[in-house]
Amino acid sequence: MAASEENQPVCLREDALTIVQTLQRAGHIAYFAGGCVRDMLWNLSPKDFDVATDAPPPRVRELFPRSQGVGQAFGVVLVRQGKSQIEVATFRADGSYSDGRRPDDVRFATPQEDAQRRDFTINGVFYDPIANVVIDFVNGQADLASRTLRAIGDPTKRFAEDYLRMLRAIRFTSRFDLKVDPSTEAAIRANAHKLPRIAPERICDELRATFASPNRMKSVTLLDELGLTNVLLRGIAPSRTTGGAEHALFRSLVGGNVPFVLSLVLFTIDTLLHAGERLDALFAPPRTQQICHQLRHLFRLSNEETDDVKTMLDAGLLLEPAMPGVAQIKRYLARPRSELGVHLIQSLAGAGFYVERVRELHANFSSYEASQIAPEPLVDGADLQSLGYTPGPAFKRVLDAVYDAQLESRVREKVAGLELAKTLMERLAGQPD
Ligand code: ATP
Ligand code: MG
Repeated sequence: MAASEENQPVCLREDALTIVQTLQRAGHIAYFAGGCVRDMLWNLSPKDFDVATDAPPPRVRELFPRSQGVGQAFGVVLVRQGKSQIEVATFRADGSYSDGRRPDDVRFATPQEDAQRRDFTINGVFYDPIANVVIDFVNGQADLASRTLRAIGDPTKRFAEDYLRMLRAIRFTSRFDLKVDPSTEAAIRANAHKLPRIAPERICDELRATFASPNRMKSVTLLDELGLTNVLLRGIAPSRTTGGAEHALFRSLVGGNVPFVLSLVLFTIDTLLHAGERLDALFAPPRTQQICHQLRHLFRLSNEETDDVKTMLDAGLLLEPAMPGVAQIKRYLARPRSELGVHLIQSLAGAGFYVERVRELHANFSSYEASQIAPEPLVDGADLQSLGYTPGPAFKRVLDAVYDAQLESRVREKVAGLELAKTLMERLAGQPD
């Protein structure tokens, strides 16, 4: 088993069942709740099991000594049972969400109220695994049967409590290939512009989950149709809402395990193309810097991810009218994660842009041996000093030029490199800085 799998907390049905049994034997109501019930009713295997109960958190902790009050203020206790860690939540009614992150107050409540505070009917059904009975206060079974995503209660009110639910709606709809109930859909459309009221970290986590899924293409179509794309990319894309983007670049992504920045940059470029931006303008450095800066800010990208976005957009320099030289191409390939930029230009060619250039670049890429892309420099600063030169601004220019010559196989040995360095130093010495 891989190390990462070993560290994943497990959550087994038999352990969740034992918890429900223990709670019920102690006189409490206890059900399976949320996504696991939805998955079971669709004959899918749930990735985890959540338990909901009328036992208040201190009582849950008493019944399960191996437990931790992770979100005790919200009524959630993490119970260790067998090999699993299972969230046991006390039935509650959420108060308002004034900061868009957490309900301001929670009140322990009836199972019915707990069902009603949940987001979508398909996520609001309970199941009693001991009695083998489905408990459905929200008419979720009908929506499960017709594969409809519908907000519980008044959709406008429910989105106003927590605008993140608009993105969750899109993720569930595409993940399970559902249709969206018309009034739920209308409420998303009408409230899309309010998404920035919630914490950026929550938007970002949700978008990461959405783009990680192999069904990401359907999500992007929905983001466009419901007016969320331009809100997500505010400050980059024009705010005018326009559905129907082709997303030809984003479409090139297949399967899971796609780095978030790759999907994010392809999504952004597709959107800008649809808005009428020209690729040569998009790849011009002031624009790439602005895009990079804004993506970092909007999606709380890490330093590494921001560098990756920059590397990707810099691939545009290989698409300028003059074919780049071998040294420029090799220097690009030597950058960490240049494969992301290579993916970008390949998907551009796949969409009919720069087809001939990308073919030429590819012929170059495949002709280089790995050891030729970033070889040790034949000549370095110490060599220039031993030739009697004093370190100064000319050093970097000369070393760069000698390294270019090495990358282009114009010099192959140190002696030739030193000769070239001398010639260049002398030429530069005759010039003002
Ligand atoms: P997954 O399989 O992706 O975990 P899930 O339905 O279990 O799907 P979670 O995010 O784990 O989704 O949340 C568990 C349950 O909590 C949901 O089924 C839903 O009932 C409720 N829930 C989660 N987030 C919200 C929210 N923002 N607003 C209302 N209810 C929510
Ligand atoms: Mg879950």
